[in-house]
Amino acid sequence: MVGEIRDPDTAQIAVQSALTGHLVFTTIHANNVFDVIGRFTQMEIDPYSLVSALNAVLAQRLIRLVCASCSSHYTPSEEELEASGLDPQQVAHYHFVHGKGCGHCRGTGYRGRSAIAELLHLDDELRQMIVERQPISKIKAHACKRGLRLLRESALELVQQGRTTLEEINRVTFIS
Ligand SMILES: [Zn+2]
Repeated sequence: MVGEIRDPDTAQIAVQSALTGHLVFTTIHANNVFDVIGRFTQMEIDPYSLVSALNAVLAQRLIRLVCASCSSHYTPSEEELEASGLDPQQVAHYHFVHGKGCGHCRGTGYRGRSAIAELLHLDDELRQMIVERQPISKIKAHACKRGLRLLRESALELVQQGRTTLEEINRVTFIS
């Protein structure tokens, strides 16, 4: 276990430990699983060592859930949908809610939280792409084709189910 990696020395120690047969768990600050690759490169880890040492990257976020006591259905405006990267047809089956705020949620409209996650598992093809320094857009496309579920997709599912708001997921995840 290596605490947060934020400088080249710590990155080097973590990668060396992994390369010499240790199972290393660590954390790193990044926007999503793909940015982690770039963060290691910035910290002077060569891509070949990185892909040899790295098995998987997990990104996670906490999303506030709408308070069940004051939740009510509403229809977002086209502007709001557009600002969230959605078109009206895409969200026809969504159950949009927001909380007005009540005594149970101290007027915030939110009560409780749910975790969402994005898991990048490195396969041989991805390792090759990273070593070749291919653009993140290509790496992302490959991972999604292999079934990677983006943070934004999991967040949108919570909106669709009427468990959180567009505002909340726009705060916590990036519009893709
Ligand atoms: Zn409430």
